[in-house]
Amino acid sequence: MEQTPETTASASDFIRDIVRSDLSENRVKEVVTRFPPEPNGYLHIGHAKSICINFGIAGDFGGRTNLRFDDTNPLKEDSEYVKAIQEDVAWLGFQWDGLRFASDYFEEMYERALLLIRKGLAYVDDQSADQVRESRGTLTSPGQNSPHRDRSVEENLNLFARMRAGEFADGTHVLRAKIDMTSPNLNLRDPVLYRISHAVHHNTGEKWCIYPMYAYAHPLEDAIEGVTHSLCTLEFKDQRPLYDWVVHECEMPNVPHQYEFGRLNLTDTVMSKRHLKKLVDEGLVDGWDDPRMPTISGFRRRGFTPEAIRSFITELGVTVAGGEVDYKLLEHHARQDLNLRAPRTSAVLRPLKLVITNYPEGQTEMLEATINPERPELGKKQVPFSRELYIEQDDFMEVPPPKYHRLYPGNEVRLKDAYFVTCQEVVKDDQGEVVEVRCTYDPETKSGSGFTARKVKGTIHWVDAATAIAAEIRLYEPLLQGEFDAEAPLEAQINPASLQVCNGYIGVDVKDAAPGDKFQFVRQGFFNVDPKDTTPEHKVFNLIVSLKSSFKVEPQK
Ligand code: ATP
Ligand code: MG
Repeated sequence: MEQTPETTASASDFIRDIVRSDLSENRVKEVVTRFPPEPNGYLHIGHAKSICINFGIAGDFGGRTNLRFDDTNPLKEDSEYVKAIQEDVAWLGFQWDGLRFASDYFEEMYERALLLIRKGLAYVDDQSADQVRESRGTLTSPGQNSPHRDRSVEENLNLFARMRAGEFADGTHVLRAKIDMTSPNLNLRDPVLYRISHAVHHNTGEKWCIYPMYAYAHPLEDAIEGVTHSLCTLEFKDQRPLYDWVVHECEMPNVPHQYEFGRLNLTDTVMSKRHLKKLVDEGLVDGWDDPRMPTISGFRRRGFTPEAIRSFITELGVTVAGGEVDYKLLEHHARQDLNLRAPRTSAVLRPLKLVITNYPEGQTEMLEATINPERPELGKKQVPFSRELYIEQDDFMEVPPPKYHRLYPGNEVRLKDAYFVTCQEVVKDDQGEVVEVRCTYDPETKSGSGFTARKVKGTIHWVDAATAIAAEIRLYEPLLQGEFDAEAPLEAQINPASLQVCNGYIGVDVKDAAPGDKFQFVRQGFFNVDPKDTTPEHKVFNLIVSLKSSFKVEPQK
């Protein structure tokens, strides 16, 4: 972890205001929150919001936060996800107090269900799932009582014990709360508390064949852990009365309270684990950490820092209002963070050979380049310069359009940190493609020499051909083209330009770059050394975010 999260204790939002008043009026002694992911996939940037809010608020008020796996659905959960989620939360910069599993509470949840049955507040229903759904009614019509609603306590205890013992097949029986089939809140129309599922659970194996439903399990998990403020997204608002009912009727000694905030949605981004898993399963991306994925691991691999993600989330604040946030805002935070962090270097994505015909053959000189103009204290570095260089293909045009100030026959430009060069002639291959640009340089124009006799309009970057290192440079665009359509096949929705691979060159000054190191390739963008595919012989760089400049990387021909 690079840095502990910045404090936001002085921040004010509706949840912090509630916490402040709960503390000052002694309703709670210590703030306890939890981040409760279901281990059915990797975390995405939406989860980062929930993480920052839960850990951030407890941290601000000297409280505690548990990382709790909400693992009540054995069919979808896996220990691979359990591991990945821990890694992602820690990488974001948060340390949990307790590491908990909802499945560790199955026995207590079962006991509490027996209590509900004994109180006449729960019953076993053996209607089919369709019948349960149909008799639930609608927003405008009341539901119908189940024919099994008035079973005796003894009969319910007996049937529930047999459900647990594995006597019944999946889908044949459920345990339901007995609340009110006419309630205007559909969640209170005898919600299902337990279902039968003969499945192997990642944590409890085959110990259980009945599993609690989210709406029953979640409030109990919170209460068992002594959570004071259960912070979740807005879609759970209508469940709040049921949450309170469960805590109250199950006679939990600790009483947590649920508060809802707006979900994070990003433009042009699918953000549901279900869909992200499909992309992975169908092989449309290179795993959950594909740099185009909106997962925390994808952002990490792409090169975003935890600081950038946290400052983005902090800027969003804690509000009830949802809506889509522009992906550009996240990029803005990444740029701000990387601008200070990333050393500058030159890299050529699509190389074109440039030969300086009047530069002595066999000579190399070292030129000074600024490491990071934002941080003058870091000083300068030395980069080699010699007769043969690589420049970007699109920094040269044989027939330039108006206002093109880069290199073209007869034009003089500045080579960044080096000399002025003038294009004298071009060399073409059999197909008529320009494969080499031949220039002359003016030794008087050396950068830093104070030369002012002539000015040029264009400055281009370069790398020294003799010492440059071949590298694979990956450019990214949004993974999906257009609005995501959950009904349509995924494959057709993938943006074919979402990954473009360039075989380019980096300067020898970054030859020791290690996986995860970040650089600004001048005039182009911020890049990260890909931690997965980079080997000692073959460096791979991921575009994190382009510079704001007008420089546009054109698709490779
Ligand atoms: P998904 O639909 O992607 O699977 P989820 O809500 O089912 O998401 P959980 O693992 O249940 O995923 O989520 C853990 C916590 O993260 C929950 O409290 C949930 O409200 C929160 N969360 C999930 N998605 C977002 C989001 N887009 N913005 C803010 N919080 C989110
Ligand atoms: Mg979910």
